[in-house]
Amino acid sequence: AKKTGRNNFQFYSVDMNAQASLRLAMETALRRAVEQEEFFIHLQPQVELETGKMNGAEVLLRWNSSQWGLVSPAEFIPILEDTGMIEHVGEWVLTQACNSFLNVKDKLADDFKLAVNLSGRQFKGGNLASRIRYILAETGMPTKNLELEITETMLMEDPELATLTLSELSDMGISLAIDDFGTGYSSLSYLKQFPLNVLKIDSSFIRDVTSDKDDAAIVNAILAMSESLGLMVVAEGVETIEQLNYLKQHTCQGAQGYLFSKPVSEEQFYELAQKDTLI
Ligand code: C2E
Ligand code: CA
Ligand code: CA
Ligand code: CA
Repeated sequence: AKKTGRNNFQFYSVDMNAQASLRLAMETALRRAVEQEEFFIHLQPQVELETGKMNGAEVLLRWNSSQWGLVSPAEFIPILEDTGMIEHVGEWVLTQACNSFLNVKDKLADDFKLAVNLSGRQFKGGNLASRIRYILAETGMPTKNLELEITETMLMEDPELATLTLSELSDMGISLAIDDFGTGYSSLSYLKQFPLNVLKIDSSFIRDVTSDKDDAAIVNAILAMSESLGLMVVAEGVETIEQLNYLKQHTCQGAQGYLFSKPVSEEQFYELAQKDTLI
């Protein structure tokens, strides 16, 4: 038994080494990914459920590595965050996003929202608002068309900094959304202290909303609360007609998911933007 134990340990440690060196190799590759033009963005439509019209889109970072091909954001975003590279890459994403928006703008509604994910590192990096203001001015992006997605964790880690930063962004006319709502830790009373506009219900609650009583109760509670706080709601990860019907019946305003469109290139997005409805 001892022998197997030792062998197991060896396998385990070889595996750990392999994992660590893969991570190191990815980190090295990521350091050059911007200049090697290996990053690009995709856009995923957000739909107004009452009309079926696209009223926004989320910007999602993609990495096509020369070594590994397309790598999942779940794998490479944490490396960008741990190393701090996300601060630079996040600004690159915002710049690309603004340029894409301007290329498609003529086909979009005046109040269209382009939603860009922020990482906690960007939040804590300091003078976030002025860095964003600079990028918007440089690209010519209208502030009223930008939405920033933040997480509950980012709010709760340093509520004072969050209040300050979010007020600055909100005063600029930028819309603020809470991402993955329901998965983090935030007391509901905190929500009204921040100048928020949108709650994005996490896809884990939407998945079984038509069959699981608990998920349905959570979704209904989020919808009721949003309404009384005057927040707009977007349900994430909508994949089926049944989920869509449930959300419409429960007066959820917005949704995003493969049912309407997966994340697509700017060219495909331009085509989608010309449709009257995505439902
Ligand atoms: P997220 O912000 O929650 O983004 C939504 C994720 O759900 C995206 O995964 C999207 O492709 C996926 N998705 C959309 N609709 C559906 C659906 O109907 N079904 C399923 N199963 N999935 C759906 P993705 O692109 O792999 O991104 C994963 C995460 O990586 C994002 O989660 C976000 O946290 C992070 N991320 C992506 N781009 C950026 C970025 O530019 N900056 C930062 N800081 N994080 C990013
Ligand atoms: Ca997001
Ligand atoms: Ca999300
Ligand atoms: Ca998520």
